[in-house]
Amino acid sequence: MRLQGKTILITAAGQGIGRASALACAREGAQVIATDLNPALLARLAQDGAGLTTHVLDVRDSAAVVALAAQLPALDGLFNCAGYVHNGSVLECDEAAWDFSMDLNVKGAYRVARAFLPGMLARMERAGTSGSIVNMASMASSIKGFPNRFVYGASKAAVIGMSKAIAADFARVGLRCNALCPGTVDTPSLRERIAGAADPVQAEKDFIARQPLGRLATVDDIAPQVVYLLSDESCFVTGQAVLVDGGVTI
Ligand code: NAD
Repeated sequence: MRLQGKTILITAAGQGIGRASALACAREGAQVIATDLNPALLARLAQDGAGLTTHVLDVRDSAAVVALAAQLPALDGLFNCAGYVHNGSVLECDEAAWDFSMDLNVKGAYRVARAFLPGMLARMERAGTSGSIVNMASMASSIKGFPNRFVYGASKAAVIGMSKAIAADFARVGLRCNALCPGTVDTPSLRERIAGAADPVQAEKDFIARQPLGRLATVDDIAPQVVYLLSDESCFVTGQAVLVDGGVTI
């Protein structure tokens, strides 16, 4: 099993890509600590996967993040998946919307990395192992601009920059950090965005049309990349913005 012996924490594991990644990591032998804001989603996840423990965690709550890091065993891997898609251009993004997206998408990943990294580094030194952080970015970022993804793109570009900086600072001690950049993935929040469009049928067609492979990604198209980046198979991959985008950026 590709993650045997590894302890991995995942944020926003209640649904979508985080949930599929938690289940995939558990199937590969990891001790998965699945966290989310929503306890009901975590309860469902705990029923569906063996090898999982769950903790409610709001990545916007600094005190809760620090308290959880003090309570849990040291990690080998961390997948910062939590994020929110704000819909709109700069003109629809007031300061509250800007602050919310930056706080959740960027500062959330910073908070969790900063709280758990000392334990990860100590464990790596003690056990002679390596560590891996995967931060959820998007192809809508510094990779490519999309309409109505103003603060989303800005926040995910920051995630890529942050991931490269962590990679540069800790490469010498064997800690890797990469940013994952999916295309459009069929998840509960995407379904909400489609349902909220003026013409939902056309909105779904438009999402599909921009992906040359001709369909939305499923969460199971993305989870294997998370497993790979958290496993030792990717031991020479660090500081990368890893695209799984159905060919959008060909
Ligand atoms: P989703 O949006 O359907 O679910 C998000 C999950 O995050 C929920 O379980 C929710 O309870 C949890 N959450 C919300 N706020 C939280 C907080 N403050 N702390 C902890 N958990 C919180 O899931 P998704 O669409 O798979 O998106 C997951 C990540 O993938 C996000 O960062 C998103 O930006 C990114 N992403 C998604 C797509 C896509 O098309 N779906 C594409 C590229 C990147």
